Amino acid sequence: MGTRYTFTCQCGYRATVAGDYDISEEGATATISCRTCKRLHDVALMPPFTSLAPSPRPQLPTACPKGRGHDWRLWAHPGPCPRCGATMRLGEMLQLWD
Ligand SMILES: [Zn+2]
Ligand SMILES: [Zn+2]
Repeated sequence: MGTRYTFTCQCGYRATVAGDYDISEEGATATISCRTCKRLHDVALMPPFTSLAPSPRPQLPTACPKGRGHDWRLWAHPGPCPRCGATMRLGEMLQLWD
């Protein structure tokens, strides 16, 4: 995985997600805010690119990773906290290498 950020909220919620579309040679993810889970999630959009991949354009995620039928929307910083609706603050940047 690539770069992730820790976002914090005044209500105490913290999430470590990409915070936007994240595209690398390992694939693409988008960040969503799920009102059912009351959490932010990174959602995988496509498998790792190959040299034959015709387009790097990411697709939209199809569902919350925790369940179908959840009420979610795309999320990008600065965006609202999924728990209290306040604008989340950007914390430290993390480099994750799996
Ligand atoms: Zn959910
Ligand atoms: Zn909050």
